[in-house]
Amino acid sequence: MKTKIQWLSLFGFLFLAANCSAFDLRQSLKDKLKVDVPQVNPKLTEAVSVAKEVRGPDETEEIAIGRQISGNLLGAAPLVKDAKLQKYVNQVGAWVASQSERPDLPWHFGVIQSDDVNAFAAPGGYIFVTLGLYRLLQNEADLAGVLGHEVGHVIRKHHLKILQQSQLVEAGSNILSRQVGNDKLQNLIGSGAEIVARGLDKDAEFEADRIGVVLATRAGYDAYGLPGVLQQIGHFAAADNSVALLFKTHPLPDDRLNKLDSAMGERFDSIKGQTLEKRFYRVKK
Ligand SMILES: [Zn+2]
Repeated sequence: MKTKIQWLSLFGFLFLAANCSAFDLRQSLKDKLKVDVPQVNPKLTEAVSVAKEVRGPDETEEIAIGRQISGNLLGAAPLVKDAKLQKYVNQVGAWVASQSERPDLPWHFGVIQSDDVNAFAAPGGYIFVTLGLYRLLQNEADLAGVLGHEVGHVIRKHHLKILQQSQLVEAGSNILSRQVGNDKLQNLIGSGAEIVARGLDKDAEFEADRIGVVLATRAGYDAYGLPGVLQQIGHFAAADNSVALLFKTHPLPDDRLNKLDSAMGERFDSIKGQTLEKRFYRVKK
């Protein structure tokens, strides 16, 4: 229990310090890990730290990593200064995420200031949609589908798994060069923002599309929100700058629509979900 409270206070502090560049996350985690892993002898510590990498970060670490990555992303593109918009997106997002198998993550949703059409998910439940993508949405079901796709990445730990792989590779080379240090977590976080922006393999994207449709439908929305958005994105010319990164990091919208179509079949046709067009929060032009 004491450990739990220590963790809670540490991450309460991290939350406050997320935007403070002077705050040393690595040192903080290192200090904490020292408490959890008594340094009886160096070989034992090394074994514990290697085992930890094989197992992967626990949920608290996952959230801390995601928070740090989000800080990096927000440094590049800050949140849109519209408190009503941010509150609305958080309400819809939290409701969609509550339909997933990880309802208890501290989910955060935001719209970031960028004319690009894109969305990002960082481990631990941090999800961002660009203003360019938000402007394409017609109703709340569209938003729920888009957020559901990103929630899918988080619950399946798509980015976290890549981070872990890179960490493993790094740990392997460190062991070979006899430099097993405490810098692994820092390296993991450093490459995180790049991995989140770089994109995943196609299967992870198709899986997130399927999860997005299922979560939005479970939440009571029209199942065709996400497919509708993909259709709209498909109308952009590939040469259009605003979709360049999205097209580079995701399968083409037509491929995603075809995969979704065969996964959905006719099973969603009889479900009467809502689009909630009137409730949808529209941003000023
Ligand atoms: Zn995706």
